[in-house]
Amino acid sequence: MASIDTAVQRPVWHDTATHESVRRDFQVQTAPRDERFDMVVVGGGLSGLWTAYYASRQNPSARIAVVESRTVGFGASGRNGGWCSGFFPLMPSEMADMFGRESALHAYRESFATLDEIERVVRTEGIACDWHRGGTIQSASTKLQAHRLQSMLAKQHDIGLTTADMHWVEAERVGDHLRLAETYGAIRSPHCATVNPYALVVGLARILRARGVQLFENSKVVSIEDSCVVHEHGVMRAEFVVQATEGYSNSFRPLRRRLVPLYSLMVATEPLDASTLSAIGWRDRATFNDGSEMIIYAQLTRDGRIAFGGRGAPYHFASRVRDRFDIDDATHRLIVAGIARHFPAAADARITHRWGGPLGVPRDWTPSVTVQRARRHARIGGYVGDGVAATNLFARTVLDVWHQRDTPLAALPFVGHESPRWEPEPVRFVAINSLLRLSDRIDRHEQRHGKRPRVLAKIFESLI
Ligand SMILES: Cc1cc2nc3c(=O)[nH]c(=O)nc-3n(C[C@H](O)[C@H](O)[C@H](O)COP(=O)(O)OP(=O)(O)OC[C@H]3O[C@@H](n4cnc5c(N)ncnc54)[C@H](O)[C@@H]3O)c2cc1C
Repeated sequence: MASIDTAVQRPVWHDTATHESVRRDFQVQTAPRDERFDMVVVGGGLSGLWTAYYASRQNPSARIAVVESRTVGFGASGRNGGWCSGFFPLMPSEMADMFGRESALHAYRESFATLDEIERVVRTEGIACDWHRGGTIQSASTKLQAHRLQSMLAKQHDIGLTTADMHWVEAERVGDHLRLAETYGAIRSPHCATVNPYALVVGLARILRARGVQLFENSKVVSIEDSCVVHEHGVMRAEFVVQATEGYSNSFRPLRRRLVPLYSLMVATEPLDASTLSAIGWRDRATFNDGSEMIIYAQLTRDGRIAFGGRGAPYHFASRVRDRFDIDDATHRLIVAGIARHFPAAADARITHRWGGPLGVPRDWTPSVTVQRARRHARIGGYVGDGVAATNLFARTVLDVWHQRDTPLAALPFVGHESPRWEPEPVRFVAINSLLRLSDRIDRHEQRHGKRPRVLAKIFESLI
């Protein structure tokens, strides 16, 4: 198995682009000591940048600022797996159970259409971010996974998704898309694109600056009180404040039990040589994952690397987030083993990068748009691991809700949705880490014995 020891510890996205897109050609100041704005966005990830983008387009003369504790794209937006997926963490059938069939379908139609919207902006604004619409493949690595995936697919068709949205590919045809070591069939959907997420962030930041939006970096916000944003260098006042701090929200007391930071970790190989690429036959660069309980995800980058990620890194007591948690040798080794398991031809490819970061996870896996008019404050996020497209959708939605526009987005079921609070510590710590360990053990048992471990699976299901 390839070693992780020589890999640099930063997202591959900083290094993959052959173009100028990831070079920051702008200087950014720290936030002002005392200044008024029409709108202040807290958090310089895709949620914050898309919000500022649409706000400035809708009202070009508005005074808009984005304030970021580190640098734009420091968070999940600059280091994710680069899947721009139309799927939410909950499938349409699961969302229908929560919100009803019509609302679930409405949400999914808007999410699928969000890919067209992002593509439109990327094209018209000329953002070089390796955007590629290759769809997605979810393969069954075991017979059991095939049963589960087929039954899940049938439920989505019952709800109203069509075979054009998702369809089953028989095992012998999966190789038309990519050659996996083992597959028992797969779900294929066109509703996914790949992107260099850091290039998208930098491209958006550049456009915002050209539009007169002020970006302030290295300015940690310490509190948000009724449209007053208190940061480490002073105070910014605004007519409207949007908070988009996602997996890094732990320092805001009201969000401590609303969003839990779960870590997702990634590695990237060197660019694969021609014979390895031809052995894998990853023709349309569809994103890839499988039907395991422990989520894995991969894409073939534009320069021919496998960028492969997985959940499973430990949850840290009291939702702590630290830079050192981005690296976890045991989890990174498991991820590298995943490359070898699915793509044996790439098993010896050098691992050049490894990194990770926290996702914002609400208790019911459902993101939300919360607008408190009286407090002139809104919050968006809770995308779990599916935020790249959703940040765009939620940015447009929060503006429609704030401006009281009667639009399809304002009617999304996420608007005003309140997820239950997570359990207090130490229950949360024990439960989340037990869940992570259980899902890993269930996957291993299924791989080895071809059946689900009944008792473990029962405990697992009772915990989620
Ligand atoms: C390793 C990994 C892989 C992923 N893969 C995918 C994927 O392939 N597809 C997908 O759809 N999603 C993926 N995700 C999730 C996705 O990246 C996120 O859902 C999305 O980027 C969230 O964007 P955001 O702007 O809301 O949050 P972030 O990008 O996390 O931005 C929040 C920002 O707020 C800043 N901030 C926090 N606190 C403060 C404060 N007090 N003051 C000022 N600023 C503050 C942070 O520094 C950060 O920059 C992945 C995430 C990770 C970590």
